[in-house]
This record gives sequence, C-alpha cells and structure tokens, in this order.
Amino acid sequence: MKEKQNLAAAAQDCMAYLPGMEIIESDILREVQHAADSVDFNAFTERDIKAALMRKHKTVQDFAALLSPAALPFLEEMAQQARQLTFKWFGAARSIFTPLYLANYCENYCVYCGFNCHNKINRLKLDEDGMEREMQAIAATGLREILLLTGESRSMSGVEYIASAVRLARKYFAVVGLEVYPLNSDEYAYLHECGADYVTVFQETYDVDAYAKLHLAGHKRVFPYRFYTQERALKGGMRGVAFAPLMGLSGFCRDIFACGLHAYLVQRKYPAAEISFSCPRLRPAEGNELPPEANGTDLRHLVQAVCAYRLFMPQAGITVSSREGAGVRDNLLQIVATKISAGVSTGIGTHSKQEREGDEQFEIDDNRSVDEVFNSIKKAGLQPVLTDGSYV
Ligand code: SF4
Repeated sequence: MKEKQNLAAAAQDCMAYLPGMEIIESDILREVQHAADSVDFNAFTERDIKAALMRKHKTVQDFAALLSPAALPFLEEMAQQARQLTFKWFGAARSIFTPLYLANYCENYCVYCGFNCHNKINRLKLDEDGMEREMQAIAATGLREILLLTGESRSMSGVEYIASAVRLARKYFAVVGLEVYPLNSDEYAYLHECGADYVTVFQETYDVDAYAKLHLAGHKRVFPYRFYTQERALKGGMRGVAFAPLMGLSGFCRDIFACGLHAYLVQRKYPAAEISFSCPRLRPAEGNELPPEANGTDLRHLVQAVCAYRLFMPQAGITVSSREGAGVRDNLLQIVATKISAGVSTGIGTHSKQEREGDEQFEIDDNRSVDEVFNSIKKAGLQPVLTDGSYV
C-alpha cells in the first residue's frame, strides 16, 4: 500500500482544487486547523474537566478538555449532563429514517471502503423503475424520511440522476436527505428545488496528512473541497447539514474536536442552519486495506464523543447509525441521539428484493426492522417520530 500512497501523493496535491470545483470565501478551514493544532489533549487535568463540567455554556476550550484522556473517568457525569440537555432541547422525540442506496459506482480510492474503485464488487445503479420499487417498499413500512446515497461517481450517478431520485422520493417522503459526492452550490440549489433539503458529508478525518494517505485517488482526494461542502449546501438553500469524522481513521481527540469546531463555526456563520452530527465507527468491509485494529474504536470513545458534542452544541441533532448494535443505539437514544436509522440495508435494490442486487458498502450491526425500532423506542418511554422537518 505504501507504494500506492507514494504514487498518489506525487500525482495530486490533496490541498489543490481541481477544475470545476467551486471555491467559496471562507476562513473556517484555517481556523479549525489552527485551533486543532494548538491543543495538547494530554495536558488537560482532572481540574480542567471539573471546571468544564461546572460551566453552563461550554467554551471551545471546555470542548477540547472533555475530549481529552483526562475526561474518561468523568464519562458518567458527562452522560448525565448530556441526557438533561437532550431532553431539554428535544424532549422525548426520536426520529426514524432509512438510507436508500441508489448506486454503488465510485471513482475514488478510499483504502477503507468496500465501494472503492479498485474493489471487485457487484456494481449496480437503480433505474427509475428500480428506485420507485425501493421507495414504495420503504414507504410501506410507514417511514416519512429517507436519505438517498450513491457512491461517489459523477459519471455514473450524475446530478440529473440524483435529481430524478429526489423528485421521485418527494412523492413518497416528507423529508429527503442526500449523502452523495460533494457538489457546487448551484447544484445543491437545483437539488433543493427538486425536493432535497438535508446534506450529509463526512470529512472522514480532519488530519490532512492522514487524509492524503487514506484517499489515494479521485475527487475525494481534495481535502478543502470536501471540507467546504456543508457551506456550499447551505448557500444552495439546504435546510440542514451533517458532520462527522469516521472514527478509527486517525487520532480520536483531534478529529472529534476539529469536527465539533467545524460545525460550531458553520452554525455561527449560518445561524438558521440545522446542524447535526453522526458518529460512525469504522466497520469491517470487503476490500478494507486498514489493519484490523482500526475497526475497533473503543466504545467509551464513542460515548465520550457524542456527550462532548451534546455539551458543546446542545441544540445539534445527533444521529446514530446501524453501524452500532441495537443495545448501544438504544442506550444512546436515552442520552444524546435524536435520530436513528431502521430497516437498513447498505446494498442496492435490497428493500424490494430486486432481481439484481448490488453489493453492500459495509456490514451493519443492527438489522432491526422499522417496526422493531419504532416499538423499542416506545417501550423505552420515548416518542418515535417519523418526520422531524418539513420541506420549505
Ligand atoms: S468512502 Fe465513499 S468515496 Fe470512498 S470509496 Fe467508499 S463510496 Fe467511494
């Protein structure tokens, strides 16, 4: 792999934009990198953590302290404060949605992902009939919110293709989110007109050196274009945007800190934006070239990350995906999570059991149906909600 990394690094500077990529006026990347480079997470002490926990409105410095190794013995206190804030801002409502994978073609080479362009998997792209069959099968479960995903291939899943999926989805769902390759703001404006209003893009890691070693080819290699996706989406009129690093790819404290600060600065610049975090931990995937230990981010770190997000940005949504098992997800719904997926498949054409199906992106850990998740939320004394927004 080292040889491939050297070749890729020589071929393409990961900080240089490629032709056609929109460059927006923003200083947030510089601010985030400067702040993340300035923090010594090992220097925080028990006293810093106690001071951070005492403060009603957590500062950026408090957020860093709560992500440090010194905060681990305080996880219980963090969780209690986080739970209070979650109930204060969101009450008992917990939203349910499902992802729909439209295509699994990808032009990028991310060494940890089963969809990467060198991986020999069954590639498939749903046509309009296939999309509609999938949407009908999902709508029949009662869901009102859907997240449309593709691999990152402009040539196989162009903007017009995504637009046709969005228009169809609007027939069946109240809320349509997108998790596709990063686009320019005029393209987001177009997809918003078609009916989408939420954009999720994971930065994967905020450590530029690690990013360059993990993303060896394709448009995704361009770090700043990906970083500014949320801003371009908001400029295009989207209601909300989601942020996340992929835990396990690089240093935990720095990545979560940088992600939280990124979201915080975007919120400050776009006060009306609905901000949310996801908390994906790396999962086993066919073709993942990383060592097995990368798939094992400590569960305590996951809890620390989501509690720190909640304490730092109390009004931000937090989504917990089916990468986690049912027990972990149910517990997180009591503490921090506001949204959960259900009836999940990361393959193509699997909801309606189509004749040809495309391979899955990664293994999921919670296979519960929509009914099962709905009932388990109710049983826990919470309120399952099938849509938490309306398209404007
Ligand atoms: S992580 Fe996304 S961009 Fe990278 S190979 Fe997988 S699908 Fe493609």
